[in-house]
Amino acid sequence: MEDLAYMDMALELAREAALDGEVPVGCVIVRGDEIVGRGRNRREKDKSALAHAEIEAIGQACRTLGGWRLWECTLYVTLEPCPMCAGAIINARIPRVVYGASDAKCGACGSVCDLFSMNFNHHPQVEKGLMEEECTQLLTDFFEKLRIELRTRPKWKRPEREGRVAKCNTPLKICRDKTVPAYFIPIIRERGSKTAPFTLSPPGDSAVPLHINAFCNSSVCLLHIGHD
Ligand SMILES: [Zn+2]
Repeated sequence: MEDLAYMDMALELAREAALDGEVPVGCVIVRGDEIVGRGRNRREKDKSALAHAEIEAIGQACRTLGGWRLWECTLYVTLEPCPMCAGAIINARIPRVVYGASDAKCGACGSVCDLFSMNFNHHPQVEKGLMEEECTQLLTDFFEKLRIELRTRPKWKRPEREGRVAKCNTPLKICRDKTVPAYFIPIIRERGSKTAPFTLSPPGDSAVPLHINAFCNSSVCLLHIGHD
């Protein structure tokens, strides 16, 4: 098969990622005419910064071939590899990398830096821009859709502090990080039931104001008191 056909497969994996709500990046690794590794971005689902398409494909290829040296393989990926993935490519001794879209923010194969031209012990050959238009369009469409979703999603609103605290009729617990003068306690109890956070200025010119944060829910009302 030709490069185009393999990049098309990587694109298919990228589309799969997009349908799953992930940034669409897909990758295939080929040895001869055999696909030995496939991967796609799964950062959101896996809740992992490591779940990039290339890392998944390299892991699978190592398992398929029974070793960490992928020195007869070509890696096809829809987006320029980041520093982590370019590092993994060097570590796996992959001799040839073909990518579609460039990544101006995170690309480590020429855009932000060129890890492969640095003084490491392995220098993969890189071909960039294969099916660039399709790869870029997929990313553009994904982020455009995401922006629309975020714009129309109802915004979370913080409940009114005044209302929260005013409803509190549970006993107050007072946590102090420094000693609070005894004459403040009744004022704190009184103010704490009305508003939070607030500052109490003690009587006298030399005294330091106290910052008070109140936390209230149905079972507990906490006041945290700290000096300036
Ligand atoms: Zn990466």
